[in-house]
Amino acid sequence: MGLNRLFIDLDKFEEHDKKCARECSYYYHPGNYGILSLQEMATYALICRKCERENCVSACPFEALEKGPDKILRRHNMRCTSCKTCSHACHSGVILPDFIPYMSYNCDLCLERLEEGELPECVEVCKCGAIQYGDFKEDEEKNLYAIGKNVVVHSVHWERDEVKKAAKK
Ligand code: SF4
Ligand code: SF4
Repeated sequence: MGLNRLFIDLDKFEEHDKKCARECSYYYHPGNYGILSLQEMATYALICRKCERENCVSACPFEALEKGPDKILRRHNMRCTSCKTCSHACHSGVILPDFIPYMSYNCDLCLERLEEGELPECVEVCKCGAIQYGDFKEDEEKNLYAIGKNVVVHSVHWERDEVKKAAKK
């Protein structure tokens, strides 16, 4: 039997923001939109160019951005002041201003709702397919990537595409 996971399609969020309501049941921040924290995490993993000299990291006045040993960026919420300097510093437009709000949004994957047999609230209100819940699996041919154990993301993977382009030369 497959494992049900949250699915997010990074390519559909423009449509999602126009057509679908924003709902999130994260208790501690009413009006929160926890899916943004997953968009941010997935974007750093899949779309960030993973620069050797990261303008974003060196531009941050508060040492809130860090590149881990896996070369993936992480933002320390408690240090980040939402100044947006990193967003301006990234030459590739990876860090969207929405990703770095002053009050950080966090997704807890609606584990309590799932235990009670309910879908996450963001899934219930999404009509365009950007956020779904079900038996999604990693499949690189279809640009589907697992991020952690509980999330599958559909997105262009910059590194993989660059490798493919280099191989064709
Ligand atoms: S928005 Fe946050 S992470 Fe970005 S430069 Fe400002 S403090 Fe650093
Ligand atoms: S966010 Fe932008 S500047 Fe920072 S490592 Fe990624 S591509 Fe480079």
